[in-house]
Amino acid sequence: MNEKYLEGSEELVQKLTDWRIEEVRAGSTGIRPVDYDGTCPDCGIAVPPARVALAFYNCVDCQTEEERRTRMEKCNGKGRES
Ligand SMILES: [Zn+2]
Repeated sequence: MNEKYLEGSEELVQKLTDWRIEEVRAGSTGIRPVDYDGTCPDCGIAVPPARVALAFYNCVDCQTEEERRTRMEKCNGKGRES
């Protein structure tokens, strides 16, 4: 293993991180609910301002659940390749 290889992989990790951020941004609705009061519209708990800054207006739990549902829908929709 040489240093050039390590530099390259660090760059790759940075790229992947950037993509992940883009993904997160793309995954959020980006639409601030009317009369948004800083709480999750689904369960009503306070949403951390850092999440709101990323244009997520629901809490982590509800977002996780939402993503799980979306993933399952995708799987069901596409089916298995066989
Ligand atoms: Zn919630």
